[in-house]
Amino acid sequence: MTKILILGGGFGGIYCAKRLQKIKQNSFEIELICDNNYFVFQPLLPEVASGTISAADAVTPIRQMLDFVKFRNALVNSIDIKNKKVGVVQGFRKRQHYISYDHLVIALGQKSNLDIIPGLKNNSMTMKDLKDAYNIRNHIIKCLELADITKDKKLKERLLNFVVVGGGLSGVETAGELKEMIDKLLIYYKYIKKTEINFHIVELSNQLIPEFNKKMSSFIVNNFKKRGIIVHLNTKLKEVTSLKVYFSNKKTIYTNTVISTVGSSVSQLVKNSKLPQKFGRIETCNSMEVKGCKNVWAVGDCALVPYDPFDESKISPPTAQFAVKQAKLLSKNILLKTLNKKPKSFSYKSKGALASLGSKTGIGKIYFLTIRGLFAWIIWRGFYLSLLPSIATKFRVLICWILEFFLPRNAVLTDSLNKKSFEYQNYKKNDIVFTEGMIADGFYIVKSGEFVNTYKKTTNKRNFMKTYRKGDHFGSRVILEGGRRTGTIMATKNSEVIKIDRDSFEIIASNLPALKSYFNIYLPKNFKNLKLSN
Ligand SMILES: Cc1cc2nc3c(=O)[nH]c(=O)nc-3n(C[C@H](O)[C@H](O)[C@H](O)COP(=O)(O)OP(=O)(O)OC[C@H]3O[C@@H](n4cnc5c(N)ncnc54)[C@H](O)[C@@H]3O)c2cc1C
Repeated sequence: MTKILILGGGFGGIYCAKRLQKIKQNSFEIELICDNNYFVFQPLLPEVASGTISAADAVTPIRQMLDFVKFRNALVNSIDIKNKKVGVVQGFRKRQHYISYDHLVIALGQKSNLDIIPGLKNNSMTMKDLKDAYNIRNHIIKCLELADITKDKKLKERLLNFVVVGGGLSGVETAGELKEMIDKLLIYYKYIKKTEINFHIVELSNQLIPEFNKKMSSFIVNNFKKRGIIVHLNTKLKEVTSLKVYFSNKKTIYTNTVISTVGSSVSQLVKNSKLPQKFGRIETCNSMEVKGCKNVWAVGDCALVPYDPFDESKISPPTAQFAVKQAKLLSKNILLKTLNKKPKSFSYKSKGALASLGSKTGIGKIYFLTIRGLFAWIIWRGFYLSLLPSIATKFRVLICWILEFFLPRNAVLTDSLNKKSFEYQNYKKNDIVFTEGMIADGFYIVKSGEFVNTYKKTTNKRNFMKTYRKGDHFGSRVILEGGRRTGTIMATKNSEVIKIDRDSFEIIASNLPALKSYFNIYLPKNFKNLKLSN
């Protein structure tokens, strides 16, 4: 029996598997591997982030979608084309397994590539999957909670400045939905004025959503202006730190929230796979067979698929519309190949694009017809509802949309799905990491740059300064001995740190004997003579 192995449970993988199970369920053994056990309808993610749809309602369990396909919930960690096998890790203990195939379909989508702008990786959130949407929502609510109670004006300003990077489809939808959410939640935060909210969207080119024309882009800009979203066109992001974003035109925004929707490329796994790659995607022929690799196919965002059989330079854009069309043809092509027939070339013309700007406003281009406003928004909702993959998901999303008209927006702060125990942070010269009197939020290791720690509250009333460079650390004393920060840490150069959260650090430092004995010596040696007073 021919074994078809599909990697990835997004639009490309799922629609290919669905078609294959319909075509020939008896002569193929089909297996689909995905690190999530659910299918994410990515265009709905901004609505999940804004709380219009709850996270679980926006996704569909893969097992419910595929009757005759074996599903494996695992992480693919190697692709060995020469020996026709794929490595996966699965289960609680993350055991390594290898799976052989006759035909391999790579539908792994793209990952955010945040290395394109200094500091973006460490200091921004992405909008790619369910966890991202969930984290963004929690983060924004946390900002509002703190902004409502803090007396520190500078901190309040930072908490209420929000920046979305990228003016494409996902950036515009994210900005529109999140601004609507913040506006609706403000009734619960009595000490935040609407005028204190500054919501920015930054785009390198001279228009928003390049799929639309300039006139439609102006419509979006005007709509955003009316709703208090500041649009920065022709603006290049130069650097991002924990405290600020820097533009190449010398402007800066003091912010705690940067959401990046720019920069995508295939994952490191695909990069390591020796498959032919160009523009950050896998190069395929018109049939979607990977160039130079027999019976290996690539589909969707990870693949560079020409959409015009007469002009190979015309490449499919990374959209769900193209991924679904490609996947349907791909299933036929695999069948043709097993019958020793010539696969067909992919050929498709976009039917247009639709986007929601939030606040019951949409915009769209369907063939030559352009629509905007409430009508476009209704069409957008109707269209996406029809595309949702199962009756149950359609029903859940529809109920969420109906309830939204009658119920107030939910301001519940739920814990993060993927609580990070460590993170990288960037600071520029003269940025303050923390000041004396603060409670200990984490332990910091200097990765590059330099920091100076100034202690004022010494019992002998003398200021004491300590410098930390690459490999040094700070923040351990207050976590391990209690009390509050006694020093103020300032970056004296552009610097990067690794911050380990308080709980994780405490557990490791008090249970790993090597670390325990290190701090038993380090703390008295460095702090005893200081005579600090808390
Ligand atoms: C916010 C947002 C809004 C969008 N709006 C629109 C829109 O309005 N219209 C439109 O046409 N397109 C839109 N898109 C783009 C569209 O969602 C993508 O083009 C589409 O999802 C691509 O499908 P795919 O199958 O190639 O990749 P994906 O849908 O990303 O699927 C890849 C799958 O592979 C899995 N995977 C990845 N790595 C591994 C691994 N190592 N092991 C196991 N599994 C793995 C992932 O979990 C995922 O299930 C939007 C995208 C975003 C992010």
